[in-house]
Amino acid sequence: MAYAAEHSAAREGRSALESVRSTLDSIDNSIDIYQTGKVISVSDGICRVSGLADVMAGEMLEFAGDIRGMVMDLEQDNVGVVLLGEFSSVREDDIVRRTGHIIEVPVGEAMCGRVVDALGRPVDGKGPIKNDGFRAVESPAPSVLHRQGVTVPLQTGIKAIDALVPIGRGQRELIIGDRQTGKTAIALDTIVNQKGKDVHCIYVAIGQKESTVANVVRKLTELGAMDYTTVVCASAAEPAPMLYIAPYAGAAIGEYFMYKGKDVLIVYDDLSKQAAAYREISLLLQRPPGREAYPGDVFYLHSRLLERAARLDEASGGGSMTALPIIETQAGDISAYIPTNVISITDGQIFLETGLFHSGTRPAINVGLSVSRVGGAAQVPAMKQVAGRLRTDLAQYRELASFAQFGSELDASTQLTLRRGQHMTELLKQDQFAAISVEDQVIAIFAANEGYADDVALPDMPRFEREAVEHVKQAMPELVDVICEGKKIPGDMLEKLRSVLRGFKESF
Ligand code: ATP
Ligand code: MG
Repeated sequence: MAYAAEHSAAREGRSALESVRSTLDSIDNSIDIYQTGKVISVSDGICRVSGLADVMAGEMLEFAGDIRGMVMDLEQDNVGVVLLGEFSSVREDDIVRRTGHIIEVPVGEAMCGRVVDALGRPVDGKGPIKNDGFRAVESPAPSVLHRQGVTVPLQTGIKAIDALVPIGRGQRELIIGDRQTGKTAIALDTIVNQKGKDVHCIYVAIGQKESTVANVVRKLTELGAMDYTTVVCASAAEPAPMLYIAPYAGAAIGEYFMYKGKDVLIVYDDLSKQAAAYREISLLLQRPPGREAYPGDVFYLHSRLLERAARLDEASGGGSMTALPIIETQAGDISAYIPTNVISITDGQIFLETGLFHSGTRPAINVGLSVSRVGGAAQVPAMKQVAGRLRTDLAQYRELASFAQFGSELDASTQLTLRRGQHMTELLKQDQFAAISVEDQVIAIFAANEGYADDVALPDMPRFEREAVEHVKQAMPELVDVICEGKKIPGDMLEKLRSVLRGFKESF
């Protein structure tokens, strides 16, 4: 007995020794020998570090007290580093360690339903994230050879958008407007409408109040949209570098899904604040200021981000990333520096107007200034069929409406155009979080477009829309199938639809 115990103890002792040895062997201490530097100056969250000869641009550095920094400037005898997070404890002569990694964020299925900061660390108090790996926040956009055209719609559930400025999967559509014009509302509605459509959503909140972001998360949770959504939050209280990298971090989290062949929708709310954060960093790094004090490469800031949105070809998995960047304008001025930059990068813009918003036309989309340059190819065929002329009709209506204000005598056809335009404008109004399916949209727009709503009192339009759609869907279930299967509505079905609507009109 005693012998056996002694023997096993000896064996354990040996194996413990061996495991210590093998662990020591496996430690890679190559970086530590020479890869530490020293802080030579620090102010305003920017520090200069000497002694890091081999450091890479964009590399993450570690400071005492678990503070991290990102290398922004490589100079001959020192590097410029922006500090990420609370940096007041960083002092001159502190030791800085290299990590050998470009800034990266955790990625994986487990990111769904989580709220993370710009470095991918959870901030929702739901414990650690079991990620599948890491992805560099900055990575090259897919090459043109690995892309294909945009042909699959991304339904927003908002009538005015799906009918007039349709968005396709893989497209970049800018949402632009002044403060408080419903920009965020459009983005959130679109996220909520992706429920059950197998689209992973990412909402990047840049420079917003934490309470505003908390409200967004609460609303998304209530509506069951958090299950497939990741929120990346760099709030107004955080240092500028966090606001600067947050969109790239969101893009990296989205790319994980895109390269797995899935569809992703990413909202950057908003990029004006990211540009301002980048301007702040650049000025502190003493880069020369250019127009509006932005550094010369501010265009590249947004172009390299938005180029990462793409629809991959089948050989690359066929995934897509649709981007909805948001830009805030001052007094509707879309010709300012950042707005013109982003307009030129994206595939179209949805322009929201304060005047429309306050006069009750919500969503406050200016139809004349809003376009979607590639989404037309992705629009549901039946919608294209019924809404094809809508843009020009509305444009004509607006022109006539401004003339009609002078109160001159109007001929019958002008009066008809005005009346129809009024009803159509009324129909395109929509509340927040009241998404409408594509078949309902097609029926409602067809009814108003063909004049069945012309003599309905304007306040009755919501009821007309609701009841007409219900009536048609009951009378013609085959129409719903045709629309949902992505076919054009055949001529005989259109005739039947007209007679059903006539019948409905008599009882309305
Ligand atoms: P900010 O510039 O502050 O970010 P924003 O342009 O993102 O504002 P929102 O926050 O989306 O605007 O909307 C402003 C207000 O208008 C909110 O209270 C929102 O509930 C309301 N709102 C937005 N869209 C609609 C709508 N379609 N119908 C009714 N109310 C709306
Ligand atoms: Mg907003």
